[in-house]
Amino acid sequence: MITAQATISLDAIRHNYQQLKKLSDQQLIAVVKGNAYGHGAIAVAKALHNADAFAVARIEEAIELRKAKVEQPILLLEGCFCQDDLYKAAEHNLDVVIHSEYQLADLETLKVDSSLAVWLKVDTGMHRIGIEPALVPNYQKRLTALAHVDSAIGIISHFSCADERSNTATTEQISAFSQAIKDTQGPKSIANSAGLLMWPDSSFGVARAGIALYGISPIDGYTGHDFGLIPAMSFTSRLISIRQHQAGQPVGYGQTWRPKQDTTLGVIAAGYGDGYPRSASNSAMVFINGRQVPIVGRVSMDMLVVDLGQDARDCSGDQVELWGEHMPIEQVAQAAGTIPYELTIQLTSRVNLSWQQRCEQDCNSTHRTEKQAVAI
Ligand SMILES: *Cc1c(COP(=O)(O)O)cnc(C)c1O
Repeated sequence: MITAQATISLDAIRHNYQQLKKLSDQQLIAVVKGNAYGHGAIAVAKALHNADAFAVARIEEAIELRKAKVEQPILLLEGCFCQDDLYKAAEHNLDVVIHSEYQLADLETLKVDSSLAVWLKVDTGMHRIGIEPALVPNYQKRLTALAHVDSAIGIISHFSCADERSNTATTEQISAFSQAIKDTQGPKSIANSAGLLMWPDSSFGVARAGIALYGISPIDGYTGHDFGLIPAMSFTSRLISIRQHQAGQPVGYGQTWRPKQDTTLGVIAAGYGDGYPRSASNSAMVFINGRQVPIVGRVSMDMLVVDLGQDARDCSGDQVELWGEHMPIEQVAQAAGTIPYELTIQLTSRVNLSWQQRCEQDCNSTHRTEKQAVAI
């Protein structure tokens, strides 16, 4: 019996990509770093064969996509950290960010026949990586002088607070960005998912969406559904034990929970060993047989316990949704004191990951899943 499993709807991801395109009317870079936030980078990129471009954080991630025959532009969000990697980027036709002097120096002494697409990263207030806006003309001049750099040099920046609805830091960053891109020719991009969803003024022609692509809201107090998005990951497991439990008796490590009245407990085969957050102990809910029930006691490595209530009719073997369509991951993250990004990306290797999609136009029979399609 398969217990903990994450099922990814590639249809949902395709829908979300289209929905985000519709909402923002810009070029859209699909951010698939971190194995597509735990959703499987190759499967996601293959499903998005109409995507304008992809972005990842590490060159290894990009090369893996190229080896899987992903042909769209792939942007390295932090560029290359040494010149050897820059040679690899040129070899695999990857687009690079330049955020530091050493990266520009590596590029200036690079000896290649091909030419690279380059994005200059400007620090507009995040103060993590990027050059000072005042240095843009100087960097531009040095980049323009290089025969092996595409003439359209992009300008890119990143928001620090776009997920907070009324934080003025975002308007300040937008105006710093507008200032920095004056007199520049190439593409411009500052919006992440939150920018795209909540800050129309952040539209400069190219947006970069990660979390929203997976159907998840980056904005507190909202779920993906509020923006017409569909959660792509369904993280499920099963009940492996049902027990009657007496009032006043403790449950789990540390004996942190005792019911006031007799109840029925359900034990689920999922724990922090699968990537379910231990910090959700005594706080998050799970979805079982049509309703949400609370986690009681501490989440342990392999199991967690829920209070099914006195009149429970649930059975061992019943499926449980830990997050997905019926149990918004935004709520689980909130209960765990973290963000959904951290939850999807930290599923462990023992969780069975599978992908589902209905056939596309180029597949003429109806509604097979990918797995079945392979078996035929
Ligand atoms: C991860 C990342 C994104 C995507 O952010 P989301 O909030 O997931 O949309 C965009 N830009 C950069 C530079 C990133 O590192």
